[in-house]
Amino acid sequence: MSKDIATPTRTKEILEKYGFSFKKSLGQNFLIDTNILQHIVKASGMGEEDAVIEIGPGIGALTEQLAKAAGRVEAFEIDRRLLPILADTLKPYPHVTVHHQDILQADLRPLLEELRMSGKTAVVGNLPYYVTTPILMGLLEQKLPVDRIVIMIQKEVAERIAASPGSKAYGSLSIAAQYYAEVTQELVVPRTVFMPKPNVDSAILRLDVRSEPPVEVRDEAFFFTLVRGAFTQRRKTLWNNVQNSVMNKTYKEELQNLFSEIDIDPIRRAETLSIEEFALLSNRMYPMWK
Ligand code: SAM
Repeated sequence: MSKDIATPTRTKEILEKYGFSFKKSLGQNFLIDTNILQHIVKASGMGEEDAVIEIGPGIGALTEQLAKAAGRVEAFEIDRRLLPILADTLKPYPHVTVHHQDILQADLRPLLEELRMSGKTAVVGNLPYYVTTPILMGLLEQKLPVDRIVIMIQKEVAERIAASPGSKAYGSLSIAAQYYAEVTQELVVPRTVFMPKPNVDSAILRLDVRSEPPVEVRDEAFFFTLVRGAFTQRRKTLWNNVQNSVMNKTYKEELQNLFSEIDIDPIRRAETLSIEEFALLSNRMYPMWK
């Protein structure tokens, strides 16, 4: 049996064999620590009946560990140069399929629907840093039939996604992600377990996709417009941001009455509002806005 792909010696051997050079623009930092990989696999909760879609397999370090646990792995890699390498490194795992495709262009719905017929589904990836948010929000906003998303991303972004009201990291990204999923930060991962070593530390996030949102909103588009608008200038009050960035200074009096009716103090800052308070405010403001 050959050594795991993720060991530093085997990774170096593979890279040398194929004369592979890293492309920084594609966020290519490969994992060289099997303990971290196993943590990701465990967090995915996938077993023999289940299927995983992997984003960016690289030379197959995480793919291999996923293949040892799950019944099927479908991996999407944008870099054509990695295809012959993956065909070689993943030869022992016939239940892995590699797709040469940009994950942002892929229509994952039909694939996930098919995979879900036999078991649970997860989307997993050690994500390229340059597109973390578009990838994650794309997956969530499409409301795909997926049970769990487990991603390794830049630590600061993970903190923003998992943040609670009242904390510095809490913002529109926290609310957007938590509207679609229950978010848990699993583990902080030092930069030393990657080749080449990036300039930032990472963290593993687990997102259990909700079957229903945690709050009832009358209009999702307006809810998110309000949330984004409320955080436009973090140092300003909720009142200022809502007036200037959401309502274009209209309905001033009505808005004042509304704030007092629902008992939300307009001099608060957006970062103190819970998702429930944003839902309440957006549901009451919606008739003024539409
Ligand atoms: N999974 C491997 C590991 O953990 O060692 C590689 C992770 S590396 C951080 C990110 C991978 O995503 C690279 O292989 C890169 O080529 C690939 N990638 C970058 N942008 C992508 C995209 N838009 N769609 C699919 N794969 C992408």
